[in-house]
Amino acid sequence: EPVVILVIGMAGSGKTTLMQRLNSYLHSKDMPPYILNLDPAVTHMPYTANIDIRDTVDYKEVMKQYNLGPNGGILTALNLFTTKFDQVLGFVEKRAETVDHILVDTPGQIEIFTWSASGAIITDAIASSLPTVVAYVIDTPRTTAPATFMSNMLYACSILYKTRLPFILVFNKTDVTPHDFALEWMDDFQAYQRALDAERDESGEGSYMNSLMGSMCLVLEEFYTNLRAVGVSAMTGQGMKAFFEAVEAAKKEYETDYRPEITRLA
Ligand code: GDP
Ligand code: MG
Repeated sequence: EPVVILVIGMAGSGKTTLMQRLNSYLHSKDMPPYILNLDPAVTHMPYTANIDIRDTVDYKEVMKQYNLGPNGGILTALNLFTTKFDQVLGFVEKRAETVDHILVDTPGQIEIFTWSASGAIITDAIASSLPTVVAYVIDTPRTTAPATFMSNMLYACSILYKTRLPFILVFNKTDVTPHDFALEWMDDFQAYQRALDAERDESGEGSYMNSLMGSMCLVLEEFYTNLRAVGVSAMTGQGMKAFFEAVEAAKKEYETDYRPEITRLA
């Protein structure tokens, strides 16, 4: 049985580049994946998708027709596509017998997928049909400031609790900045606190933010125990082996924790 990898992350974190890297890595292992692109607004796509939302809806046309801005156009395009998603799922299920990995790229603006009805419908439809895991992509060089790191982790946390799917934190762009600092902060609350204190001494900001962040840390400790973290570079390809090991572990978690729940609700 294949595993579906939902690639989610902030705009510019490197989702599309990672899709290309995963695709070429799997091809090199003689295990070509099945690929879905759900970003109606992508202009440069460095891989070929088996199913592409752009073949069904033209979001610029949608913008004109419904008099919408870019975000409204993308969301409406996703909504229109969702009305056909049972057919899409039919194709995916058919191909599921012959592939090991199904990769899903999502819209550049993360909230369009994670906080829309369509995003939830698509996620639930896929996850009730096949083992599904979330790969949450992080722009590592842009998350080295303690406060930024915290916001990004809280966002990831909210997606984990919304989807309730097995979760992989993917620290991308490690060719620019290694992710050791992140692992240290996740592993050792006091190390994070020290980084926070150092940042405050530098900026001369009040202690309110820091005390808030300190409390948030305790919340996140629980979150950190519920996921796996890997460092990759979509650019150079480093970390691919660790990534797919994390995917296998997450797939097992789906089978033991998530599937029984679906059966119970059905
Ligand atoms: P998306 O909006 O999440 O799909 O992000 P893209 O895949 O379009 O990437 C955004 C930018 O980050 C592009 O300029 C990429 O070339 C760059 N990028 C993506 N992955 C990496 C990486 O691993 N290392 C470096 N140095 N740049 C990357
Ligand atoms: Mg993209």
